[in-house]
Amino acid sequence: MKNRCGITFDGDMIASYNGNLIFVDEFEECFDRIKKVLEEFPRVKTTWFIRVDQNMEDIYGQADYVFQAHKEKIQWLRDNGHEVAWHIHPFVKQEGKWVQNTDHDQVLEEIKKFFPVAKEHGITHTVRLGWGYQTNQVMSLLSDLGCRADSSGIPRPKYPWANQFTDWSQAPKTPYHPGRDNYQQEGEGLEILEIPMTITHVPASYDNGQIIYRYINPAYHHQLFVDAVDGIQGDCVTIMHPAEICPSWDYAHELISYNAGVLRANIRHIYDRFEFVTLKELSREYKTGKEIRE
Ligand SMILES: [Zn+2]
Repeated sequence: MKNRCGITFDGDMIASYNGNLIFVDEFEECFDRIKKVLEEFPRVKTTWFIRVDQNMEDIYGQADYVFQAHKEKIQWLRDNGHEVAWHIHPFVKQEGKWVQNTDHDQVLEEIKKFFPVAKEHGITHTVRLGWGYQTNQVMSLLSDLGCRADSSGIPRPKYPWANQFTDWSQAPKTPYHPGRDNYQQEGEGLEILEIPMTITHVPASYDNGQIIYRYINPAYHHQLFVDAVDGIQGDCVTIMHPAEICPSWDYAHELISYNAGVLRANIRHIYDRFEFVTLKELSREYKTGKEIRE
C-alpha cells in the first residue's frame, strides 16, 4: 500500500521582492501556472489554504476577497477534487508597517469574527494559522467552533531566529489529537486533528553547517526536493506558496526555484510513489482508525 501525500498550497498573498515582503494577489499572478501543472497529474489532489481575515479586509476591502475576485479558480479546484481550506494570518499595522499581530486576545477575536465568513465559503474543516502560530486557547477555539483539522504545525526545534510565538518543539511529527491543555501533545477533550507539515533536514549554505529542519516544499530546486522527499519513510505533508513558482519575484533564491517547470519535475518525481489526498481526506482516514504509516 502506498504512503499518502498531502500537497498544500499556502496562499499567503505575499511575495518576497528584493528581500522585502510585499502583498500580491497570488491567484492573479500564479494560479494558472499551477493549474497547468495539476492538469498533467490528475491523481494529485491538493489542499489550498485561502486567506479570510482582517488583513485581507484592510487591504482589499473584503475579508473573502479571493473568493470574490477568483470565483472560477476556486470552482475549478472544487470541481477537480481539491480541498479549499481556511488560512488566517493575523496582521496588525505598526508604524505604517504590517507585522504579525501577537496580541493573543486579538488573535482569538479575529478568529471568532471571521469564522462565519469562512464557514459561508465551506472552508472551515481544515485550518492553518500564519507563522505556524498556535496556542492552547487557539486550538481549543478552533475545535469548539467546529474545525476538524489544523495544519499549522512545524514540528522542529525552536530555533533562536524563529518566530518567538511559534513553538512546535514538543509536538509529534505525525498527525495527533491535541489535548485541550497542551496543543503539542496527544490528549483529550478536542475534536480537532493536528496534521503537522513534514519536516526534514534541508541544508542551506547560510546554516553554517548547523542541521536545520525545514518543511518539504515542492517549489524547492529539483535536486534539493528529491533529497528531502526521498528521505521520508511514511506519509508526507508538503507546503508551498503559489508565489514561489512565479519568476516575477526573487528567482535567485538558494532553496526556492521560482519556476513552475521545477514544480512539474518535483511532482513527477513523487507521482508514482504516493497516493495523493487532501487534508480533509487524510483526517477522515485517520479517524476511521487507519494508522498513519511510518
Ligand atoms: Zn501561510
